[in-house]
Amino acid sequence: MGERISVLPPDTRHVDYDVIPLMIADGCLYHCKFCCVQSADRFQARSRTNIAGQIQELKRFFGQNIKNYNALFLGNHDALQAGGEIIHFAATEAGTAFDFKESHGKKPMMFLFGSVDSFLKSENDLFDEIDRLPFYTYINIGLESIDAATLASIHKPISSDKVGNAFRKMIDINRLYKHIEVTANFLIGAELSPDHYESLTELLRSAPVAPRRKGAIYLSPLKDSPRKRELLPRFYEIKKQSPLPVHVYLIQRL
Ligand code: SF4
Repeated sequence: MGERISVLPPDTRHVDYDVIPLMIADGCLYHCKFCCVQSADRFQARSRTNIAGQIQELKRFFGQNIKNYNALFLGNHDALQAGGEIIHFAATEAGTAFDFKESHGKKPMMFLFGSVDSFLKSENDLFDEIDRLPFYTYINIGLESIDAATLASIHKPISSDKVGNAFRKMIDINRLYKHIEVTANFLIGAELSPDHYESLTELLRSAPVAPRRKGAIYLSPLKDSPRKRELLPRFYEIKKQSPLPVHVYLIQRL
């Protein structure tokens, strides 16, 4: 449909990565140095007309095969920043057009990325609205590190306080909303400092156990990390200390 999907949220593993992609925004808020998926665009939400046009084209493209899908990816890198109105419009129009249905008592799934800023500024009204949609929604946020020096070294223009606030908000949203699950990504890599690992382990260790173990943490190796397998002991060490589920997220640029 004229847009490149460079990466899918890690939560799409729940549907074997079988999602229908619908672009509701382009670009992102930050242009982090470590990122291998960013586009050059500044953030811009798509119009309703553009989204409705994509839905019609996607329906034609998938044809009869659309029956095999029950999950939607709202792209691209920060769909949450598009705001409640556009998210609601895209989800309801797509859900109806693609005829998504509950299957074996499970709702269709919807996936999107959010950024620290779009997540922190999203108010309860937006989450109330998403929770009422006919989807179980995963929102994946790139937190990367809670260590200020690490955030500066990867050129992520957010403070460690904001990362801590977003982490705590993730836990609150997961507790409050039945049909929303917020997950988070952090970086691992041989070149990252002991302070990064200590602060990350401390943050996870202090997290309360979430109901139904909602709120997975994904650890993503930096793209230049040599011998990613050698990071596995580090991964197990962090996983052992975390009451939240922890997984590896290998970003394969699509
Ligand atoms: S990590 Fe996210 S916010 Fe940063 S450049 Fe990549 S897509 Fe943009």
